This record gives sequence, C-alpha cells and structure tokens, in this order.
Amino acid sequence: MAKKGRVFSGARPTGRQHLGNYLGAIKNYVALQADYECVYCIVDVHALTTVETTQELRQNTFEMALDWLAAGMYPEESIIFVQSHVPQVMELHTYLSMVTPLGKLTDLPTFKEKIRQQPENVNYGLVGYPVLMAADIVLYKTDIVPVGIDQAPHLEFTREVVRSFNYRYQTKVLIEPQVKHTEVLKVLGIDGREKMGKSLNNHIELALTPEETVKRVREMVTDPARQRKTDPGNPDVCNVFTMHKLFSGQDEVDMINVECRKAGIGCVDCKLRYANNLNKNLEPFRAKRAELAARPHYIQDVLDDGAKRARAIAEQTMVEVREAMQLP
Ligand code: ADP
Repeated sequence: MAKKGRVFSGARPTGRQHLGNYLGAIKNYVALQADYECVYCIVDVHALTTVETTQELRQNTFEMALDWLAAGMYPEESIIFVQSHVPQVMELHTYLSMVTPLGKLTDLPTFKEKIRQQPENVNYGLVGYPVLMAADIVLYKTDIVPVGIDQAPHLEFTREVVRSFNYRYQTKVLIEPQVKHTEVLKVLGIDGREKMGKSLNNHIELALTPEETVKRVREMVTDPARQRKTDPGNPDVCNVFTMHKLFSGQDEVDMINVECRKAGIGCVDCKLRYANNLNKNLEPFRAKRAELAARPHYIQDVLDDGAKRARAIAEQTMVEVREAMQLP
C-alpha cells in the first residue's frame, strides 16, 4: 500500500523504557508505521548535551532498541538507527547553524529550562540542540513529525530554519516538515503526582518480571483522602483508576468506579487487579523481548542496516545541499 509520506522521530537513549515512554511515544511510533514510511532515531549525540559519562550509552541504546522492537517497531519497513552512525547530520547541523540567529536559540523555553537544570554545564551543544534536531529532521526529507505540546516550539524553529536556508541559497532543497500533533498522554508515576520518569524513580519498566510489576504497583499512591479501607474513595483523582482505564476491561473499570466510591473494593485489591491486567497486556511484549535479548547480534544488525539506509538518504540530501550552497 502506498504510504502517505515520511515520518521522523528521535528519542534519547534512556535505557529500559517505562510505561510513560510506551503510552506517550512508542505506541504511537508503532501505529504510524501502518500509514507512513517511518524513520526512528536513537539520538545519542543529543544525549551528550546532558550526559557527561558515556559508559552507559551503548547499553542504554541496546536496551532501548530491544524495547522498541519488542513493542512492534518493524525494522523491515521502518528505518531504526543510531544518530551518530550518520555523520552527515553533523555537517548539516553546521550549515544550518549559519542561518540561525543566536537569540532565537537562547530564547527557547527548553534552553532556559536546561540552564536551570544544569547551571554548571551550560555547554555550546545545549544552545545548538534545536539546530541539531532540525538537521535530523530535514536530512531525511521528513514530511511529518509527531510532536507533543512541549516540542512544538522546536518544530516551529525547524520550519523557520528551513525557510531561512532555502531563502539564503535560493533553493527548495530542504522540506518544511509538517507537525502532527499527538494527543500526548501524561502518565503519572507511582507517586501519583509527578510525570513518570526514570530520574524521579517513580517509573514502571516494561521489562520488569510479573512479580516485580506487582511489587511496584503495590507502591502506587491512590486517592490521598482515603485513609482506611472503609473510607469511600474517589476514582476521579486516583492514578490507579486512570491506569485501569488503559489496561482493564470495561466491566472491571465500571465495577471499580462504583465500588471504590462506596468502599466496596479496597486499594490493595484494586492495585492487584491492575497489576494482573498490566502483566497480561505486557506478556507478548515480554516474550518477544526475551527472545530478542538472546540474539544481541540481531539487534546490532538491525541498527547497522538502519544506519545504512539512513546514510543513503542523508548523503543524497547533502549532495543537493552542497550543490545549492555552491560549495567548491
Ligand atoms: P526525551 O528526553 O527524549 O524526551 P524521555 O525518556 O523523557 O526522553 O522521553 C521519551 C519519550 O517518551 C518522549 O516522547 C516523552 O514525551 C515520552 N514520555 C516520557 N515520559 C512520559 C510520561 N510520563 N508520560 C507520557 N509520555 C512520556
């Protein structure tokens, strides 16, 4: 079937993926493959802006690729690769940086946030982060980028850079990518308050064993106003109930919605039901992950093949870019 265009998305190599990554990104990556030619990149160079020690980079890349493939990202069609394996992106980054006013970069909210987060390491790469991201996107002649609300300014920035480049060199070689706004679901961590994330250690990894999953789910914070089992609860403010709606059958969700409000079901029981349903849902993923983990060479082959296909597109773009710039 003819595809509707090319999608690009990148994510930093953060190692084993958690439920937030799955529901907020990976699930969408998998779904897009049906209609689009997808290019999915593990952006290890971007990671260097915040990571100072690189010992874990390889392992994290491997673990993330495992999760992606086990979740249904399909390397026979999609291009799945590691950013640093395509050096053309660094070259394009440099050329794009020449048409980028510095003030635009330092004004971006994401840059300001990074200064707050790591005042001791405000490196040059951090300022150029959106330029590298723009290079990633346009290098593959991307039509569409799926983004959540927090990344929207970066996409607008990419479109501006493309216009500036094309105007300066009187060319149409770079394509302005379209934004595909995705309804980004914010998955809360086991604390029931903050966004689920590795740094807060409030996450549930997809690759946990069923027993570890139960243990982690038991730690989840429920309606804080419900102190005892005999107190009625409010599912509307309970993260466990939110997760039930994603992983449990409608009958069970309806039952909990009614019973919790009249203390007919306790939080422990409710959590165990969620953990069981989550485990059941993740069973095929975990089986596939175990099978893939036993074949590390296969993962390497997938990433090598992805890089080869990505480089072919990238080099073609760069030939056109250098030509447009009339580089000697
Ligand atoms: P990055 O720094 O590349 O955003 P993250 O691991 O924070 O790395 O996120 C990878 C992807 O997973 C992003 O698309 C992000 O929006 C999504 N994601 C991460 N945590 C959550 C969460 N708790 N809820 C929803 N989506 C999430």
